[in-house]
Amino acid sequence: MKFGGNAVADVERIRHVARDIVKKAKEKGNDDDKHATTSTDSNHIVVVVSAIKGVTDDLIKICDSIIGGQSSRVYSIMHNIEERHRSIASNLCSKGSYTNELTSIVDILIKEMNDLLKGMMLLNEVTPRSRDYLLSFGERLIAPMLCYALKDVGVEAEHLTGKDAGIITDSNYGDARPLMDTTRLRVRHKILSMLEHGTVPVVTGFIGSDQHGNITTLGRGGSDYTATIIASCIDADEVMLWTDVDGLMTADPKIVKDAQVLREVSYAEAMEMALFGAKYLHPRALEPILDKGIPIRIRNVFNLECQGTTIMKSPTAYPSKIVKAVTAIRNVSLIDVRGSSMVGSPGTAGRIFNVLGENRINIIMISQGPSEASISMVVRKSDLDKAVNALELNLLGRLIKSIDVTDDVAIIAVVGAGMRGTKGVAARVFKAVADRGINVIMIAQGSSELNLAFVVEDRYAEDAVKALHDEFELDRINQ
Ligand code: ASP
Ligand code: MG
Repeated sequence: MKFGGNAVADVERIRHVARDIVKKAKEKGNDDDKHATTSTDSNHIVVVVSAIKGVTDDLIKICDSIIGGQSSRVYSIMHNIEERHRSIASNLCSKGSYTNELTSIVDILIKEMNDLLKGMMLLNEVTPRSRDYLLSFGERLIAPMLCYALKDVGVEAEHLTGKDAGIITDSNYGDARPLMDTTRLRVRHKILSMLEHGTVPVVTGFIGSDQHGNITTLGRGGSDYTATIIASCIDADEVMLWTDVDGLMTADPKIVKDAQVLREVSYAEAMEMALFGAKYLHPRALEPILDKGIPIRIRNVFNLECQGTTIMKSPTAYPSKIVKAVTAIRNVSLIDVRGSSMVGSPGTAGRIFNVLGENRINIIMISQGPSEASISMVVRKSDLDKAVNALELNLLGRLIKSIDVTDDVAIIAVVGAGMRGTKGVAARVFKAVADRGINVIMIAQGSSELNLAFVVEDRYAEDAVKALHDEFELDRINQ
C-alpha cells in the first residue's frame, strides 16, 4: 500500500491511514476464520509513503534559493518544514513513550538536514547528488510518523528508507532507475523476513541508493514506482496506490461534470492515460509489475466506499467500449519547422530532435506528412523559448527555413484498447469535434492504436473533451 502526500498531510489523516486502512486490511485475513490467532492468518502489508504534500516542492525551492544565494529564504522554508513535522510528531501518538521515541527520531533527521544545508550554503552549490540527498528528507521524515501511528494502534511496524529496504539504483540522480537483480535479492531478504515476523515495513517512497551508498531519487512522483518495485520483488498479490481521488476517470471531472471512475483498465491503457495527463501515476511505475501481471488498484483514502480503478493485464469490465477516456494536455505549444532542404534528406528528423534533446526539451507529440516539407512538434509551454532558441541557433538558415509557433494549444487524446482495429473511430472523433466548430491543427496516432491524439487551440480544449465524452457515451460507461 502506497500513500500519497495528501493522505498523510496532518495528524488526523495519518491516524486514519494507520487505523482505518492499514490495520483493518492487515486484520482482514482473519475475517473468514474467527479462530485464527497467528499472524500468518492475516494479510501481509508493506507500506510505502510519500512526503507530505508540498514538502518535496519546498525542498526544491530550498535548492533554488541556495543557488540564488537567498539564505533567509532557505531558512524560512526550512523552518516551516521543521515546525510542521515537529508538531505532528508531538501530537500523533497517544502513548507517551512513543511520542518520545518519535520526536527524537525527528530531531536527529532535522539535525542531519540542517548540517547538510549548512554545507550546501557554504559551498553555495547544489549538485545532483546533494539535491537528491536533500529531497530525501521529505519521505524520511514522514515514514517514522506513519510507523509510530501504526504502533500506537497496536500494529507491529518498523520504518526504513528505500535504501534500507534494498532498493539499489544507478547513479542517475534525480531520475534514478533500480538495478532490479540486486534490488530483488536485497528487498526479498529484508522485507520478506519482516513480513514473516508479522511486522509492517513502512518504507520511504521515492528514494533508493546507488552502489556507492549515495541516496538517489526516482523522479517526481516516484513513490508509486517504489511501491511497484517492491511489489515485483516480493511477488505481491496487488499494489494499492492510495491517493485523494477515486481512480482513473473517463475525463477530468473539472471539465466534464459526469465523468466516471473507470473500474478496470489495462496496463497499456493506464500508461496512455498517465502520459496523457491523468496525473496519478509515475510514468515508469508500471514497468516492474508488467511481467508478473500484478494488479494495481487506485484507491481514495477519503472515500473508502469507492473501490477505485484496477489496472490489470486483461480487464473484462467494458468489453464493448471502444474509447475509455478523453484527456486534455494544456499549457503546451506547437512548433512547426519548414524547409525545402528537409525533403528527402535522411537524418533531418534526427538532427532536429537531437538539438532539442541536447537542450533537455521533451517533445510530447510529433507529426510529419509524407511531403516531408514540415515537421510539427508539441512541447510544454515552459520549454517553448528554450526550444525555439535552440532550433534557431543550431539549424535555422541551414536545414530549416522557418519556424512557426502557436503558443496556446492543447492536446486532446482519446484512449482505449477497443480502438485497435475498430473502423470509424477517427471519423467519429473528428466529426464530433467539427460539429462543435472546432478546428483540428495537428493529428497523431501511433500504430498501437491505443490512443488518437490531436491538437486544438487551447480555448477549445474543454469543448472538445466534452464533445468526445458525449460522443462515446462515457457518462454511461458504468451502467
Ligand atoms: N515526494 C515525491 C514527489 O513529490 C515523490 C512522490 O510524491 O511520489 O515527487
Ligand atoms: Mg507526491
